[in-house]
Amino acid sequence: MNRIPVSSPASVTVFRRILTHGPIGRVDISRATGLSQAAVTKAVTPLITAGFVVEDDELRSTPVVGRPISPLAVARDRAHIIGIKITAERTYGVLTDLAANVLARTEEHNASTAVDDVIAAATSVVDRLRDSSPTPIDGLGVAVSGDVDREGGMVRDSPLLGWKGVALAEALETATGIPALLENDVRALTVTELLFGSARDASSFAVITIGTGIGCGIYLHGKVVEGAHGVAGEIGHLPLGPRDAVCSCGRRGCVEAVASTPAVLELVRAGHDDPSITTEDAFALAHDGDPVARRAFEQAGEVIGSALAALVNLVGPETVVIAGENVTEYDLYANALRTAFSEHAFGAASECDIQLRPHRFDDWARGAAACVIEVIAGGLATQAA
Ligand SMILES: [Zn+2]
Repeated sequence: MNRIPVSSPASVTVFRRILTHGPIGRVDISRATGLSQAAVTKAVTPLITAGFVVEDDELRSTPVVGRPISPLAVARDRAHIIGIKITAERTYGVLTDLAANVLARTEEHNASTAVDDVIAAATSVVDRLRDSSPTPIDGLGVAVSGDVDREGGMVRDSPLLGWKGVALAEALETATGIPALLENDVRALTVTELLFGSARDASSFAVITIGTGIGCGIYLHGKVVEGAHGVAGEIGHLPLGPRDAVCSCGRRGCVEAVASTPAVLELVRAGHDDPSITTEDAFALAHDGDPVARRAFEQAGEVIGSALAALVNLVGPETVVIAGENVTEYDLYANALRTAFSEHAFGAASECDIQLRPHRFDDWARGAAACVIEVIAGGLATQAA
């Protein structure tokens, strides 16, 4: 990948500040990072020379004493990145600039979840986005749900795709000719919140996603938690659900087994003895007051609220962001979620700020692009701010 010349921890810190808070003056960078102004200048000079940081002359100001000062900003057009999110049914893609602004988006139906079919869909998404990029693509970010080995580019276990041990990054690099970075989809969203979202200034936060799966990314002590074995924040598989509910992971009693979209749909179908009910039907039934559908969503809310309390009791984040494709239907389970959360959150942990984030499938793809930006800039989310 075309890496940004960040040669020291100080230059990573300075670039991160410019990326997340630019345009920003050298004095403000110095104040926020604790680096001396001389150290900031030393870190910034190679970034300007290489064209990754620019002096924003439109915001130039002239102090009473001394020469004019221009704040620093990331040169957005210096790199272009493609992010894709692979789901069982579709592959979503976005083209972004170096500041993760989405410039183009597209999607493709997967003929099946067979690896070759998904690679074909992903390649066609990448080709279309590449055609709309003004410069060659610097990196391809790939977001997949499940247990992902980022270093090895391997999907170890993705129950939603039915994949075990798939060397996806290498296969996509071969198919597209672009260096690929594989990432767990929830961690990708967490990196986006950290670098480009409302959590830019939070000391700690968690992102919970509610949809086909229930996921959670955690940011703590200046780092996105990776887990010593590559797994962390899997609140979807906490055993807080009824023991008879079977999860997509094969275990019993998981949160996801009653609270994921497919699980809720299954309960509504079983309650009405009608397997033709769709997800949209289930939402409509619940909104119309159908007791079976309402109960299914309430049960999901209770279990998610308990899981949220478990997370907050263990980790104590400043903020929890709830995202995921089901946030639009949040009203169906919000009360049950909040009640269960306040019943189980211990003491001051219940003061945790819970925010809702409107969410589209594109956001997952943008998260994958944000992870590429993180890596080409020297590992922004794994260094303390
Ligand atoms: Zn499970």
